[in-house]
Amino acid sequence: MPNKGFGRRKFIGTLTAVSLGGMIPQVFAANKVSDKLAALGGEPVRSKTKKWPKWPYVDDRMIEEIVKTTKSGKWSRINAPVDGQVATFEKQFASLTGAKYCIGTGSGTQALAIAVEALGIGPGDEVITSPYTDFGTVSAILTSRALPVLADLDPASYQLDPDDVKRKINSATKAILPVHMMGLPADMDKIMAMAQQHKLKVIEDACQAALAKFRGKTLGTLGDLGCISFQASKALACGEGGAIIGNDEQLMDQCFTVHNHGTTKKGKHTTIGPKNRMNEFEGAILNGQLPTAVERFELRNKNATYLNEKLKGFKGLVPQKMYAGTESGGYYNYAMSYKKEHFAGATRQQFLKAIVAEGVPFSPYIPNGLHREAWIDHILTLNEYKKMFPAARLKQYREQMSSLPGCDTVCDEMVAMHGSGSLIATTADMDDIINAVMKVYDQREQLKNL
Ligand SMILES: *Cc1c(COP(=O)(O)O)cnc(C)c1O
Repeated sequence: MPNKGFGRRKFIGTLTAVSLGGMIPQVFAANKVSDKLAALGGEPVRSKTKKWPKWPYVDDRMIEEIVKTTKSGKWSRINAPVDGQVATFEKQFASLTGAKYCIGTGSGTQALAIAVEALGIGPGDEVITSPYTDFGTVSAILTSRALPVLADLDPASYQLDPDDVKRKINSATKAILPVHMMGLPADMDKIMAMAQQHKLKVIEDACQAALAKFRGKTLGTLGDLGCISFQASKALACGEGGAIIGNDEQLMDQCFTVHNHGTTKKGKHTTIGPKNRMNEFEGAILNGQLPTAVERFELRNKNATYLNEKLKGFKGLVPQKMYAGTESGGYYNYAMSYKKEHFAGATRQQFLKAIVAEGVPFSPYIPNGLHREAWIDHILTLNEYKKMFPAARLKQYREQMSSLPGCDTVCDEMVAMHGSGSLIATTADMDDIINAVMKVYDQREQLKNL
């Protein structure tokens, strides 16, 4: 055994997880006392003085852009329609994503709601989406008074299961709204084929997936419209902000009109819409960070690939499944499924308590699928929904929303690390993560004392 001259942790760091998947190497058994879990008073793998990268990211260029905008007095995009911060960002983001057009908005939720409205989806229409997402996804369907129909997940990828989407398509279905969960691509080959077959629109919720690629295309440009979020926690962040990207000029013009309280670029008041314009300060913060954003995106991908490699073959913590065609991810979260049978039956809560005490910021992320939240019963009490849909459909809808077992499994097993900041750390930091996982795995019998 190559244990001479190695501390236990360093030794683990030199192994891949494969060798640890099925058995405890002898060297660990001899070290029980010093391997006490930090949660039980042992020494943590990662000392408390070591910090994870701060989030949100801030640099001098971003501050300069904000100061410039403040001093210019041009605070709304209408003060600088051609070369202002928002207009400039839209051009640059379109070019980065390969989309023909981009429209800045006040949030990702707004971007999604504008997409739904601009596609003419409304009362009596159904949109199929994921139960495992930010509530903004569902909210964007509800604000147009359409019916959000939740399909179940592939429990290994945390993405929409195309087979269940198919089961939920009916004559009222107008669109599929796949969410690229954690910033990795949903099963887009199957979803796009199904949409084409049933003549459905596709709105991509790429809120976590800025810049990620699938089969040579940037997420958000595969469907009819793509929506991105720049909320403070997202990998490209401006506080609250978002964007719609797309290639269809007429549809994108309609999105502009809807987001501009129903007023066209030429000033004609033509339709229904909220006022959801991105402001110049948000554009400034984004323009300031764009020159280095791709660098951070690539670093997240490099670190995620490194973690995937280290965890390959380890049965206790299984990284998010990727579909064929995936080229890169936004990595809003680095996500894994916790398999308690490989941790001596310890609950996920016990595992998380142990791993966090070792200095690794893992969390359970979304506690409940959106099919388990109160909004469903609420809309079923509303007269507007009772008027829009036959009683039999609403009864069937309630039943469909009562059982999404794939999503429940994901909620139970999820172990996520926020990727925006943590995944731009160093390789040594990634080694701390793996070493902590392996220590907790090695000492799994201690977990029941937590
Ligand atoms: C963040 C997020 C949204 C909503 O974006 P906001 O900018 O917060 O409104 C929607 N969907 C997903 C998957 C998200 O992560």
